[in-house]
Amino acid sequence: MTLVVATTIDEALRAMADGSRPIAGGTDLVVGHRQGKAPLPDALVAIDRIPELGRIDEAADVIRIGAGVTHARLMSDELVAGRLSAVADAAALVGSPATRNVGSIGGNVMNGSPAMDTGAPLVVLGAKAELRTLSNTRLVELADLWTGPGSVSATSDELCTALVIPIPAPNAGSAYVRLEYRRAMEIAVVGAAASVEFDGDRVAAARVALTAVAPTIVEIDAADLMDAGLIGAAGPGGVDNGAVDTVLDAAVMDALTAVVADRAAPISDLRASDRYRRHTIGVMAKRAVDAAMRRASGEHIAVPVNRSVGIGAS
Ligand SMILES: Cc1cc2nc3c(=O)[nH]c(=O)nc-3n(C[C@H](O)[C@H](O)[C@H](O)COP(=O)(O)OP(=O)(O)OC[C@H]3O[C@@H](n4cnc5c(N)ncnc54)[C@H](O)[C@@H]3O)c2cc1C
Repeated sequence: MTLVVATTIDEALRAMADGSRPIAGGTDLVVGHRQGKAPLPDALVAIDRIPELGRIDEAADVIRIGAGVTHARLMSDELVAGRLSAVADAAALVGSPATRNVGSIGGNVMNGSPAMDTGAPLVVLGAKAELRTLSNTRLVELADLWTGPGSVSATSDELCTALVIPIPAPNAGSAYVRLEYRRAMEIAVVGAAASVEFDGDRVAAARVALTAVAPTIVEIDAADLMDAGLIGAAGPGGVDNGAVDTVLDAAVMDALTAVVADRAAPISDLRASDRYRRHTIGVMAKRAVDAAMRRASGEHIAVPVNRSVGIGAS
């Protein structure tokens, strides 16, 4: 086996053009090899020492997160936690501190697992992946990047250099929650991300995406969110729910649950049955929407929502 340690993007791209596979934190690649899931490639190029991949930049209308940025950094970065809260929620839930300290957002996205935690948050925030070869740079919609469990449409010489995310409006908020059985070293049983933007006291735009309920991350169609009454719904303070502890109207919550359960196509495995996943994904979606609406209306909910409001393991 050969290992090249790249310190510039061009070095990494040259090695990839010669057939090397990139390795960032190695928490999927190396751990997968040790668990017997897939052998290590013959040629690797380490990309974790490329400074440009470790940057988080704010431009006129986008936030650019370098593919090498670790989960530990994402969860504590002021810009990410403040403006892209769902991504910070997700990063804070990944594995253990050891995993978060080396595991990267680029590795999470390019590994293509339907259980990846940053995937649904990136989708609801409208992120695109920046993919580079020696001769070309392109921006790819995430829905076009993920083609199945563990597979992506990028070619073998394409390096993901960044995730590029439109800056959300000031009256917008986002959140990610997941169901988990214990706090560390556990991937999502199911998870849901939501983003919400208000126009006055009404929801003007909303997106919802689901983790671990289909071969790839699933986004709910805007038309279905409109039919469910989420788009156009009243914000916190506009709803009298009696005993129901949410900012969403009960009829909208029921409709949202039905839409989400309908779009989910989960499998049964040793962690959960398909029926259990189909039921719990509705609960997670409602909670993600609820937290996103509260954040959009200015309420502070600390990252991650799971720990702040007691969702999942205690
Ligand atoms: C104990 C443990 C717990 C975990 N818990 C979670 C969890 O809770 N949630 C979760 O989502 N994940 C979890 N994971 C999975 C893993 O930590 C994450 O997916 C992590 O973000 C992977 O990043 P990495 O840098 O380690 O990727 P690597 O292992 O280095 O790479 C993963 C894949 O992506 C490719 N790749 C990496 N970077 C790039 C790039 N810039 N461009 C192109 N291709 C690239 C590699 O070639 C490889 O195919 C866990 C893993 C472990 C070992």
